Amino acid sequence: MTTKEHDSKIKRVIISEQEIQDAIKKAGAEISKEYDGKPLLLVSVLKGAFVFMADLCRAITIPLELDFMSASSYGAGTVSTGTVRIDFDLKHDISNYHVVIVEDIVDTGRTLKEIVRLLKNRNPLSLKVVSLLDKPDRRVVEFEADKVLFTIPDFFVIGYGLDFNEYYRNLPYIAEYDTSK
Ligand code: 5GP
Repeated sequence: MTTKEHDSKIKRVIISEQEIQDAIKKAGAEISKEYDGKPLLLVSVLKGAFVFMADLCRAITIPLELDFMSASSYGAGTVSTGTVRIDFDLKHDISNYHVVIVEDIVDTGRTLKEIVRLLKNRNPLSLKVVSLLDKPDRRVVEFEADKVLFTIPDFFVIGYGLDFNEYYRNLPYIAEYDTSK
């Protein structure tokens, strides 16, 4: 893909880099306060949440550990397939940790509902979910994150870790993807 083709599909910026960083700073401070003195494990759901995880963990000022897992409910497009696949799992035994799942976006809610169910079965000391974005209009299963940084309408968004066909993850902001033609 040429740079021109790439850029032509970025319809408009929805959340600027500065707005994201300000919200993360606030969330990081809140998490630092809430979990001070507790064994904290941040769990990121790849790949979409990797940028958020990198910034959020650096906004947290207390000791913490990180782990990663991968799940997917989307194929190579903008429409959910309705199934959640765990592609790879955590390395930690989470039973001795307060776990915070760090997610990019809650859309239908299927992915997080399934991941929360799976991880709760492993008896963590506690389990909460922080999501950068939430699209409540799209929900098909009941699910609410404990902390959401931005609530957005039903746009297909790209940037800040979120892709379209693996592109655009490196944009420092959240943009609407141009789904026309
Ligand atoms: P859910 O299971 O809630 O439907 O979907 C969660 C996953 O779908 C997210 O982690 C994300 O990877 C993908 N997804 C949902 N909405 C969007 C979107 O607007 N843009 C992108 N790039 N991915 C999305």
